[in-house]
Amino acid sequence: MTPQPNPQAGAAVKAADRAHVFHSWSAQELIDPLAVAGAEGSYFWDYEGKRYLDFTSGLVYTNIGYQHPGVVAAIQEQAARMTTFAPAFAVEARSEAARLIAERTPGDLDKIFFTNAGADAVEHAVRMARLHTGRPKVLSAYRSYHGGTQQAINLTGDPRRWASDSGAAGVVHFWAPFLYRSRFYAETEEQECARALEHLETTIAFEGPSTVAAIILETIPGTAGIMVPPAGYLAGVREICDKYGIVFVLDEVMAGFGRTGTWFAADLYDVVPDLMTFAKGVNSGYVPLGGVAISARIAETFAERPYPGGLTYSGHPLACAAAVATINVMAQEGVVEHAARLGAEVVGPALRELAERHPSVGDVRGVGMFWALELVRNRETREPLVPYNATGQDNTPMAAFAASAKAHGVWPFVNMNRTHVVPPCNVSEAELKEGLAALDTALSVADDYT
Ligand code: PMP
Repeated sequence: MTPQPNPQAGAAVKAADRAHVFHSWSAQELIDPLAVAGAEGSYFWDYEGKRYLDFTSGLVYTNIGYQHPGVVAAIQEQAARMTTFAPAFAVEARSEAARLIAERTPGDLDKIFFTNAGADAVEHAVRMARLHTGRPKVLSAYRSYHGGTQQAINLTGDPRRWASDSGAAGVVHFWAPFLYRSRFYAETEEQECARALEHLETTIAFEGPSTVAAIILETIPGTAGIMVPPAGYLAGVREICDKYGIVFVLDEVMAGFGRTGTWFAADLYDVVPDLMTFAKGVNSGYVPLGGVAISARIAETFAERPYPGGLTYSGHPLACAAAVATINVMAQEGVVEHAARLGAEVVGPALRELAERHPSVGDVRGVGMFWALELVRNRETREPLVPYNATGQDNTPMAAFAASAKAHGVWPFVNMNRTHVVPPCNVSEAELKEGLAALDTALSVADDYT
């Protein structure tokens, strides 16, 4: 579809938005949302007819891009046949989605509890862990994001938690490994890994192992900076969980469904959690859907005792039909392998090359279609290009970087002092190169602040 300029229609959309839509995470009078006219594949466009290459995949969820015809057709077919049906019934789209997901999740994570999104998947994973163990506390990492509902925001480590933290949710935060900004004075990945594991075990010892129900980690923390964990860390956490009878929850809401060039990020580390949350990429976000993949052991807890939790729209047929179609498209079109190959052969080498030429790039990290550039004022001190600021308002250099990328036709993901390179997993090589060239130009703007 070719963008057709229609500024008048755009103005009407914008006016109604400004009058009536209350936006997430925003000071309502300080924002200026772009009116979007359409989207297809890796691109979207505004009512002026300006097209953008989407290097954000929405909020890192359109893993097969916008308007994939196979998925759109499946949603239309499901709508014509059975738009909705209550969760207590066996329904084809729901059964088939659960089967396809369980076939791909690692180990014995073979039962699927469907939710509406990522945050409620986290809520339910934690509830299952508490009921399974009979223990109250949950450990989560400071540098993490687990969602915006009450328990999920309490678990979240990033500053978005501060305003909403109830302080009474049985949550204890710890430091997960991240060598570039090590809390453990480590100089190598091995040291970082060993010290982070020692810190976690000490935290458990001081909290009392018999009080800890679960440890929840993003397999690769996403929003907090795509902090690829050192080899051995997740296997080490698995061992600690086994030693103390703690439920290991991996949050794959962002990292799952092809994002890392594997079906799940856990596959990269050969680790099997007891519970795994997913959402976003499960159906490329075409219809809201999330869920928890449950191991045999935890499913057994609720074999003859009811699970005390549910949602009106659990396993909504429209969302599940979109998941079935998305998973089939990903399998048929080799999207996961494609993301792995382009990540290793194109994005990784290109970003490392940019880091050599641009003094503002402090660190490059990632895998598959899941990459971050960390921008700094000074490579030696690693001072972030944005001074640490919980409100996110002090973002002038990053705003200048983003404005340049947009002027060159790329919509960048910007968070704090980072830009994440997270295009759809089926982005073409030519599109990637177009986007990387625009980032090159935008980094020259960032260099002015070093
Ligand atoms: N967990 C992780 C790892 C996430 O990245 C997100 C969303 N960015 C969530 C949970 C929450 O998902 P949702 O916004 O769909 O509730």
